[in-house]
Amino acid sequence: MAGRITLTMIKPDAVAKNATGDILRMINEAGFRIAAMKLTKLSKEQAEQFYAVHRERPFYNDLVAFMSSGPIVAAILEKDNAVEDFRKLIGATNPADAAEGSIRRKHAENIERNAVHGSDSDENAAIEAAFHFSQLERF
Ligand code: GDP
Repeated sequence: MAGRITLTMIKPDAVAKNATGDILRMINEAGFRIAAMKLTKLSKEQAEQFYAVHRERPFYNDLVAFMSSGPIVAAILEKDNAVEDFRKLIGATNPADAAEGSIRRKHAENIERNAVHGSDSDENAAIEAAFHFSQLERF
């Protein structure tokens, strides 16, 4: 059965250009409930840990530098079929391929500075939610 939570990060590019409010509006209007949320900043070590699965990829160092370059908004989102539905809402990794109406189509700059993160599986959603939030920070 599909899980009910996913983890998002509004990335440093989107926070820096004040797109946080519009992205949260799109998330709420798509039927997600915010179960936890914070403005925070990843250290280089935290970004390395979060993206460890991409360690061997050519863009890993750039991605880590970008994700630790400024504040982000991390949130746990709740909805039936949360992971899949949120991946649809954010659109493809490369904004040039992202569907009309998706968050990345509207707010992403390029394949790296692509405005938002969304978990890619229920298992990773649970791991990523625990990375950012204790049980006491979830409502
Ligand atoms: P996602 O699940 O759509 O976020 O995509 P991935 O898990 O494949 O990649 C993680 C993140 O790495 C993406 O959201 C981008 O910020 C970045 N990224 C992915 N592919 C590339 C690439 O080809 N070049 C660069 N510079 N960054 C990339």
